[in-house]
This record gives sequence, structure tokens and C-alpha cells, in this order.
Amino acid sequence: MEAIAVITSGGDSPGMNAAARAVVRTALYEGVRVFGVRNGYKGLINDDIDELSSQSVADLIQRGGTFLGTARSEKFRTPEGRQTAYNNIRARNIEGLVIIGGDGSLRGGASFSKEYNIPIVGLPGTIDNDVWGTDYTIGADTAANTILEAINKLRDTASAHRRIIAVEVMGRKSGWLAMTTGIAGGAEYVLVPEVKFDLDEMCHELRESYDRGKRYSIIVVAEGACDAIGLGTVVEEKTGIDTRVSVLGHIQRGGSPTVEDRIKASMLGEKAALALLSGQTNKVFGFDSGKPVAIDLFDAVNNKKTLDPELVRLARVLA
Ligand code: ADP
Repeated sequence: MEAIAVITSGGDSPGMNAAARAVVRTALYEGVRVFGVRNGYKGLINDDIDELSSQSVADLIQRGGTFLGTARSEKFRTPEGRQTAYNNIRARNIEGLVIIGGDGSLRGGASFSKEYNIPIVGLPGTIDNDVWGTDYTIGADTAANTILEAINKLRDTASAHRRIIAVEVMGRKSGWLAMTTGIAGGAEYVLVPEVKFDLDEMCHELRESYDRGKRYSIIVVAEGACDAIGLGTVVEEKTGIDTRVSVLGHIQRGGSPTVEDRIKASMLGEKAALALLSGQTNKVFGFDSGKPVAIDLFDAVNNKKTLDPELVRLARVLA
């Protein structure tokens, strides 16, 4: 194999840089050229592709975002778009592609792989931790720590004013970020899309706990569960308790990756490059119970990850 390419696609996540850096340095170490595709599948279609050196990925492991840029591309969803992308890859003699992105990006990779004979290895890069077959995705730990820091601060002010604070966190259709940060942040309630909740019952319990002298409550709301601002209005109306809403937004995506994200992204980047170089294709590398695993790309995109019921149970017990 002479050359491979690396691409970051979809929503950015902290640690994508560490993963891409590991792909680049591993390939170069093995004597193979590496190209970087700019701005996701858009760059693949627009031929926005540069050859990378070891120096191209210097001063990067500590940075959030992705130095390659990322984007969403409607054209890549069309057969014509993917044909143009393939032509660009062939023209540069690129013989394998590492795709770092969320489930959408991996799905894009699976469509591409079905149509063209280009070896593809995916790495789960998303703060949502919603990729099937791996209990780790690149960036989720950093995002969870960012959320936790915010929850800690919100607790201080909620306590000072005897308020209820609802914190809306990201995660799209997945409640993982909300559930883990809710447990770690000692939230009274965690609302996630995977679990039905009874608003009236919650408000009744909140009122009772305040009447017993409780100073404050934190409700962590996954963006996929409900609109936190609307929820805050209803909770205040029903409980008569001063309620505030904090929508954390894009701050959750940024920041310097944690140790876990740097190390695991580096390990996965190396595995992805070595897999391509050894002739493998249609694999996604992730972790299962702390150990690196290879998942079939089509299994990863065709199955839906569920929220660990143990976490749901623990959040209830400890609230
Ligand atoms: P993420 O990777 O963060 O889940 P998206 O779901 O937006 O982000 O997907 C990123 C990109 O992947 C899309 O903009 C599109 O170009 C491509 N993609 C997603 N699903 C498909 C699909 N079924 N076929 C082809 N391309 C897809």
C-alpha cells in the first residue's frame, strides 16, 4: 500500500485531532504516505485534499476541534457525490480511508464502501457516545467533564437562591451524556429520550422535597428528551419554586481533550492505520469493557446502541 487518507466528518469532538495525528504518524512510521481530507465529505467531493507530514500534526494532541475541519455534506448522500469523491481518491492513488466521525459519518462510509472498492476503517468520533458496538467514543469523556464542571457551578448558585435549575445537555437521540453527568453531578432528576418520565410526579416530588427543607434541585435534561426551556416554565408553574434553565450548547464540544480521550483516540488511530495497511476493510475500532475491539462497519451502523439500564437504575437510587 502506497497511500491512505484520513477524514474527520460530522460533529467535531475533542480527541479527533489525537486520533488523526495517530493515523498520520503510524502510517508514516510504516512508510506509507498519508493525505488529509479537509472539511469532511465536502472536501472529498471538492478535492480539498493535502498530503500530510509528521510536522502537519505537531502541536495538536492537546487541541479540541479538528485541524482537518469538518462539515456536513448533502452531496455525499447522493450517488453522484460519492462518484466524484471516488474519482478524487483514485486520482491520488489513495488506497484506504480512515473516517473519524459519528454514526452519520460511519453510515456515509458504509454507503461508499458498498459502491466502491475502497478499503474503509471508521473511528467513532462523537461526544454523544451513541455508536453501537463500542462503549467509548472519541470526545464523550471530555464533553462529560465540561458538563460536570458546569453542573458544579450551577449547584452553587441554585443552593444560594433555593432554586431548581434545569441543565440542557447535548447528545442528540442519546441520553448517555445526560445520564453519566447527572449521576456524577448528583442531579435529582435526569431526563433522557430512552426513558419515559412523568412530569406531574416529578413536580409533586420537587414540591414535597422543598417543603421538607431541601435547598435546591438539579434536573439534567438531554436535548433529545424535551425542550429544557419549556420544561423550566412548566416546572416553575407547577411547583411554585423559582426555576432557571441553563442550555450549555456548543461549549460542550470544545476544549482540550481529557487524558482518556487523548490516550484512547491515539490507540484507535494507530489501530485504524495498521488495519488498513494490513488489508482490512469495513471495520470500526472502539472499546468494549476497557479493551480495544474491532466491530464490523455494517453492524455498527445498522444497530442502535441502547442506554445502559444499570446507569438508569443508579441515577434513580442515588437521587
Ligand atoms: P455525525 O457523523 O456526527 O453523526 P451526520 O449525521 O451529520 O454527523 O453525518 C455526517 C455526514 O455523513 C453527512 O453530512 C453526510 O454527508 C454523511 N452521511 C450521513 N448518512 C449518510 C448516508 N446514509 N449515506 C451517505 N452519506 C451519509
